[in-house]
Amino acid sequence: MATFKEFRNNVKPNWCPGCGDFSIQAAIQRAAANVGLEPENLAVVSGIGCSGRISGYINAYGLHGIHGRALPIAQGLKMANRELTVIASGGDGDGFAIGMGHTVHAIRRNINVTYIVMDNQIYGLTKGQTSPRSAEGFKTKSTPDGSIESTLSPLEIALSAGATFVAQSFSSDLKQLTMLIEEGIKHEGFSLINVFSPCVTFNKINTYDWFKEHIVNLDSIPEYDSSNRIQAMTKLMETGGMLTGLIYQDKSRKSYEDMVVGFRQEGIANQDIQISEQDFDKL
Ligand code: SF4
Ligand code: MG
Repeated sequence: MATFKEFRNNVKPNWCPGCGDFSIQAAIQRAAANVGLEPENLAVVSGIGCSGRISGYINAYGLHGIHGRALPIAQGLKMANRELTVIASGGDGDGFAIGMGHTVHAIRRNINVTYIVMDNQIYGLTKGQTSPRSAEGFKTKSTPDGSIESTLSPLEIALSAGATFVAQSFSSDLKQLTMLIEEGIKHEGFSLINVFSPCVTFNKINTYDWFKEHIVNLDSIPEYDSSNRIQAMTKLMETGGMLTGLIYQDKSRKSYEDMVVGFRQEGIANQDIQISEQDFDKL
């Protein structure tokens, strides 16, 4: 069985020292090992941004896609080979701005893909512009007088779109993050894991200390029921989206690939697909 170190290749990440993305890579490697994967069982697909580099740093199948398009590629991979564990990854600009249309529809489609968003609340790769996750009033080169747009709440959108797995974590909390990625991989359907990942170079507001001060860990709410969607939405709104932990999981809904005619039988996606006349009539 592969150890977490075997999911690391020999490419040295060129993230800035202190960037939260390092810990997210470590958590993905640990989770992959903990659930018993081998590198050849895993594919990591990324979009564009500092976060997008991650697919080149993990010893697995990897594809560095185009901006906002990690999810269409990841979903296609899963449909072509359902035996593969597929992780899609990208930043908040990548997934919640240009890629938001794909994000919402991947959520409601519920294909068995784990989507890890490295949320630094800014565009890092292009040297610090306001992103959909930046706070109102946030000053950058693109909003010198402060952002006048409201901040996107992606987890509330996910719940509204019919998500079956919604989680959030902090890059510094390696234990929680690893556990959530493991649960996301095991979940039979689409799992969204948003991870606060400080950009130490360009975001001087949402720092490690800022997150530590504002995060509300679900461990501190013992009565919380992660199968209750209304409670999930309420707590997210009450905490300004700062909840961390497993926020919502619906285990009752089948994944997309389990419902598509012709993909129902175990393993059929890995064989030559021959659709019978009967099945063809149902399409
Ligand atoms: Fe990380 Fe920000 Fe540096 Fe990009 S610019 S590598 S997000 S610290
Ligand atoms: Mg970003």
